[in-house]
Amino acid sequence: MMKIAIEELAGCSGCTIAVLDLHEMLLDLVAEADIVYSPVIMDVKEPPEGIDIAFVTGAVRNVENRERLEKIRKRAKTLVALGTCACYGGISGLSMLNSNDDLFSCVYREVETTKPDGVIPTDVPPFLYRAFAVGDLVKVDYYVTGCPPKEAFLKQIIPAMVAGHTLELSRKSVCSE
Ligand code: SF4
Repeated sequence: MMKIAIEELAGCSGCTIAVLDLHEMLLDLVAEADIVYSPVIMDVKEPPEGIDIAFVTGAVRNVENRERLEKIRKRAKTLVALGTCACYGGISGLSMLNSNDDLFSCVYREVETTKPDGVIPTDVPPFLYRAFAVGDLVKVDYYVTGCPPKEAFLKQIIPAMVAGHTLELSRKSVCSE
């Protein structure tokens, strides 16, 4: 049975929700494939070895994102950059417009719903000097754009991938052309 993983880097989880929004088609998929790892939908801390297809959502903004990306790349035969953040940097890339101090102050002091006591935590993984698209750091087999990708498109490509078909999808980011 095909082993599927969905990794979350710096993003909003909307791309994973887009996969969940396939609704009853998911039932067909889980009959054909095991979802072995997804931090959003299951309590599994580490991606296992021997993943067939890893969907990676979100950009690479901090050290932890980079470590997780490198790990899942080593453990997956096929890696799909899923969504605009993963393909190009997306929303996370906008963080480069502000200093780290300004970002942390906004998130932990000014937005009361996220941290009403105004304390900036000290255990946040360090930022890299810039945001990276997934393909900047590891080999990507397929790029699937969209914020999030369209449901109709996911319905075309995910069952075909799970069935082991080779798809006519972009194999490089427009950013690297
Ligand atoms: Fe969220 Fe859009 Fe980024 Fe997907 S591409 S993680 S929906 S911001």
